[in-house]
Amino acid sequence: MPLFQNATFFISAHNLSDLPPANGVEIAFAGRSNAGKSSALNTLANHNRLAFVSKQPGRTQLINFFTLGNDKHLVDLPGYGYAKVPEAMRAHWQMVLSRYLTERNSLRGLVLVMDSRHPLTSLDKQMLDWFCTTGKPVHVLLTKSDKLSRNEANQTLMKVRKELNDTWRNCSVQLFSSLKKQGVEEAENIIGKWLFSE
Ligand code: GDP
Repeated sequence: MPLFQNATFFISAHNLSDLPPANGVEIAFAGRSNAGKSSALNTLANHNRLAFVSKQPGRTQLINFFTLGNDKHLVDLPGYGYAKVPEAMRAHWQMVLSRYLTERNSLRGLVLVMDSRHPLTSLDKQMLDWFCTTGKPVHVLLTKSDKLSRNEANQTLMKVRKELNDTWRNCSVQLFSSLKKQGVEEAENIIGKWLFSE
């Protein structure tokens, strides 16, 4: 049975003060708008509408919590890098994201979703810089890998793995396709360990 089969919507937060108490364990999903984060969450949850694949990036900027029961949560962070977001909103979200990533005690690990055709953008690097100061693990999903040939996908994987290892601590990376349902087990194994190891 998929790891997140029973995920259900729990709460949305617009500010740090709206976050639920930091009890239990949570795993956050972040990524550039349109990288494929909602699709990846839905694929992992074996659900079609869990994370609402948003057609208006930048509009609904909320931190969405999904519960797996037993005080375990998946946290869908707002997509970043959407060009049309007003400056004040961008600044607000930079502050919220950086503080959430660095200060949230219940956060066990970060899943960073990148389009495999454009990995490690400057904003992705910014997220890694913020989060890796905590020493907590990051797992990168290189999504839409179905859009690359097998050879291109493997080369991208090796290149990103090398850059991650050279620059940040405690990062792993894999290829992922929501369309082809590829990489699901590998992702579940890592996220499952973060969620269920004490
Ligand atoms: P988000 O903004 O990061 O949540 O991205 P979405 O999940 O909404 O996906 C953005 C676009 O990429 C949508 O048109 C999806 O259908 C498409 N997409 C997402 N994942 C994949 C994938 O694995 N393969 C392909 N071919 N398209 C994908």
